[in-house]
Amino acid sequence: MITHVDNVDVLPGVGPKRLDALHELGIFTIEDLIGYFPFRYEDLGERLPSETLDGDKVTFKGVVSTPPVVTRFGKKNQTRFGLLIEHENIRVTFFNQPWLAQNIDAGQEVAIYGTYNAAKAALTGMKMINASTDALDPIYPSSKQITAKTIRHLITLAWVDARGTIASLVPENIRTKYRLLDRNTQIEYMHFPVDMAAAKAARRSAAFEEFFVFQMRLQLLKLADQNFAGEGINYDATAIRNFEASLPFKLTPAQTKVVSEILQDQTRPRHMNRLLQGDVGSGKTVVAALAMYAVVTAGMQAAIMAPTEILAQQHALSLTQLFDHAGLTLRVELLTSGLKVAARRQILEDLENGDIDILVGTHALLQPDVAFHHLGLAVIDEQHRFGVNQRAALRENGVNPDILAMTATPIPRTLSITAYGEMDVSVIDQLPNGRKVIKTTRMGHNQLDNAIAFVKKQIDAGAQAYIVTPLIEESESLDVQNATAMYETMQLAFPQYTVGLLHGRLSNDEKKTLMADFKANRIQILVATTVIEVGVDVPNATVMLILDADRFGLAQLHQLRGRVGRGSRQSYTMLIADPKTDYGTARLDAMVETTDGFILAQRDLELRGSGDILGTKQSGVPEFVVGDPIKDLTMMEIAQQEAITLVSQENWDQQVANQTLVDYLSRTMAHYRHFD
Ligand code: ADP
Ligand code: MG
Repeated sequence: MITHVDNVDVLPGVGPKRLDALHELGIFTIEDLIGYFPFRYEDLGERLPSETLDGDKVTFKGVVSTPPVVTRFGKKNQTRFGLLIEHENIRVTFFNQPWLAQNIDAGQEVAIYGTYNAAKAALTGMKMINASTDALDPIYPSSKQITAKTIRHLITLAWVDARGTIASLVPENIRTKYRLLDRNTQIEYMHFPVDMAAAKAARRSAAFEEFFVFQMRLQLLKLADQNFAGEGINYDATAIRNFEASLPFKLTPAQTKVVSEILQDQTRPRHMNRLLQGDVGSGKTVVAALAMYAVVTAGMQAAIMAPTEILAQQHALSLTQLFDHAGLTLRVELLTSGLKVAARRQILEDLENGDIDILVGTHALLQPDVAFHHLGLAVIDEQHRFGVNQRAALRENGVNPDILAMTATPIPRTLSITAYGEMDVSVIDQLPNGRKVIKTTRMGHNQLDNAIAFVKKQIDAGAQAYIVTPLIEESESLDVQNATAMYETMQLAFPQYTVGLLHGRLSNDEKKTLMADFKANRIQILVATTVIEVGVDVPNATVMLILDADRFGLAQLHQLRGRVGRGSRQSYTMLIADPKTDYGTARLDAMVETTDGFILAQRDLELRGSGDILGTKQSGVPEFVVGDPIKDLTMMEIAQQEAITLVSQENWDQQVANQTLVDYLSRTMAHYRHFD
């Protein structure tokens, strides 16, 4: 007798070739096979065109109302006929299947699968289906090597034995609470539904099961972190208080709150895995500085990783300044890919000896030859620019340090319970006192002269300005050309001031010098491409003028705007654009209406539509087979709650009722590749 833990090749007809094809689809065991669900059903039930959305793939069952006509043009041809579905008539067109005409006659009952065009009441036929079967026909995702039909056949074979032997993963009390099917019925209805309602119930139960298992894994990862018998960091509280007192400003209450959350976490003998979220300008860097300093007072090292060279350089500079200002002699070093061989070797050597306290860098920090003496904390700045994998890579760097990931991007609920589900979250929910709300205006290119006159007024008053030139997706060299042209224009317009030009083609040293000059106000106007998008901090800059602003995404515009308003002066963002699309206009309007990053992120999702939420893949939302974490967010939240409740019970993993789940998790955790 076949059981669910057997390998699929116990089934008759599965030779080496089919086995390979099944493996390709991720099917290794009978359990994998019966858990391989159809992605849709050929529904021969009642469906009216008026109930069908434009572009839907559907099957209509009806009576042929006009005899088929075949039209030829060259080698191509189309077959057309009318189809009456109850009282609604539509036009059906098949391309290049002329033989169909011989099998179809007016008055005949047929079922046709195709794509529906609602405006034209027309169906582009893809397949004729035998109208006399009533059952739902499950359609499986297949491949070149193995057909959907073969998969279906194998599942039917396996189910003969496996049926009735499948225990449920979701504990019974939870299934009762949310009216979910037991796993056996769920699988049966998935593959062999008696009607659409059964298929839907199965899908709902399967989605919940998938979410629940996922959330259980996250909870187990969290528990593993908490139970990890690592060392708590024994920092010097007095030294930290002194450092805090010597900062050039007083921390905001929100900063104080997150600092204490982080310090508390660090002292525990477990891993810290924390996400720090705070809008642009909320002051995350100094929070990171305090956390890193704490580690150093305990005799360990810290690292901070930034997404760009400019930002890494700036961090190295501002950290050094903060420590110098406090009279502390910490050794902060910068490791970037541009470093000369000898200099790099020296840094790596000193790092390994423990002579360097804080290492600042880009993803160059992740290279295998970078070995710390004793890394206690890794900070990841602008986390959204890195993937989950880089977060994991830092953790795996042998030493497994505490992690503090920072981001200005507000985390939609979907992400906070999937991509960041294993992390604790701290939020800085206020800006430093005395900050004035940045004034944002938008204007057409015909008003550019006025904008430049405004820039002049600001600079005459002692402030500085950024001018960001358009982003040309296809071509970096066009970006540079644009920036260079603007730079020349600005030099003519401002003969009495110094104008700088910053773009991605410059060497790291050139960029470094430019940024230092701008920071020291030796340059008053910085013309730049988006290389300055993230993190750059020059409090004396009060104007951000963005040309062709409609070419930028909302998140980018918000980041760019965040470069000003960092000091006590009133700051301004001017969006120069003549948008050609509604989407472009809507983005600019949103920028003018609010400076709140969370509202903007929300608006961004709405404007983009559910099709491309944050570019789901890049944002790290894991993929699910049945459930959709974006559409079924509430279900995901329920699954998370139930998983938290379950693991908080004492000896939950010893109870008989949970044994199937425990077995399943321990059997599959090893294959689980998302956070490992
Ligand atoms: P972000 O959260 O965007 O990374 P930064 O850490 O770059 O923000 O801080 C923005 C600016 O605000 C910096 O110039 C920083 O020195 C300053 N800043 C940070 N915290 C405070 C505070 N509590 N009071 C006044 N200024 C602050
Ligand atoms: Mg920052």
